[in-house]
Amino acid sequence: MQSIEQFYPILNQPFKAVITAHQKPDGDAMGSSLALYHFLIQLGHEVTVVSPTNWADFLNWMPGTTQVIDFESNRKEASKIVQDADYIFCLDFNILHRTKNLEPVIKDSKAIKILIDHHQQPDTPTFGYGISDVKMSSTCEMIYDFIVQSGHSNLINIDIATCLYTGLMTDTGSFRFPSTTASVHKIIAHLKELGLQHAKIHEHIYDNSSEGRLKFMGNAFLNRMTVLPEFKTAVMAIPKTDIYKYELKTGDTEGLVNYLLSIEGIKFAAIVIDREEERKWSFRSKGNFDVNIFARTHFEGGGHANAAGGRSSKTVDETLNDFKTIIENYKSQLTQLN
Ligand code: 5GP
Ligand code: MN
Repeated sequence: MQSIEQFYPILNQPFKAVITAHQKPDGDAMGSSLALYHFLIQLGHEVTVVSPTNWADFLNWMPGTTQVIDFESNRKEASKIVQDADYIFCLDFNILHRTKNLEPVIKDSKAIKILIDHHQQPDTPTFGYGISDVKMSSTCEMIYDFIVQSGHSNLINIDIATCLYTGLMTDTGSFRFPSTTASVHKIIAHLKELGLQHAKIHEHIYDNSSEGRLKFMGNAFLNRMTVLPEFKTAVMAIPKTDIYKYELKTGDTEGLVNYLLSIEGIKFAAIVIDREEERKWSFRSKGNFDVNIFARTHFEGGGHANAAGGRSSKTVDETLNDFKTIIENYKSQLTQLN
């Protein structure tokens, strides 16, 4: 993989680009994809954002979402565009299987792949150019740097600022995680100078729940959560029946795992959700308990040191029991955390 700086001169020649991110794109995946889209079209490139799957409705206010193609509901059209692309920008993931059913189409395309991402252990041989930096708060921070460092900061308009802020805000837990550096705040200051309406964005993302979602959360805390103080751990298991009963939509369970970490003394939080095709785990931790390693070792997943995901093909009850057995081996590590 060549460095991202070596790609900058190519920005001056017209090309066909596809921008994609991980399946079920979150605020950072969608924000970085759309910010890059609004940047590249100003340079005269032919650009399409292809999402591997659908995304949460609470992202639909973002400028440009109506142009995003959902691969799962438009396979033919999306495949043709991916096949014909010169470059495929891969944002907010670093290994192709995170694009789910889009993976074989990307693999078959002759397009050169460009990686811009902040997760651990990138699959660098897949990519022609790129940057992978786990110290970055968000892929949106990296897209900001990409635009500025390639000499185009004058092209940052209000649409780009809005999209970038969304990912910076969501991936830093509203600017509270340790990844929130001085550079992050300097970027926000710049975006504010451009006219960014940050309060509106917080409202769009966080004050947008259905009544069913709040009832679902109440039930989840009451009936689906187990607190294991002897492991400094809290775990929650959501059966499919809850998803149907409360009419949950994509994105409605996002952030739920973080509430478990708000319990005093809890350092490790885990939640498993019964999805159509698999049981999806989310892991969060405080301090030096590395959930990326935990997810990779036991649940076919990965992510960051303090936020990771994984999966299981067993039933919810079986995988929950597996989890409870596995953490026995981490008891001393977990209890020694401060
Ligand atoms: P979440 O729990 O919100 O789905 O994911 C937490 C973090 O871990 C995110 O940065 C996400 O991109 C990453 N992540 C989630 N699932 C996986 C996975 O299966 N593999 C890898 N490598 N990263 C994941
Ligand atoms: Mn991210």
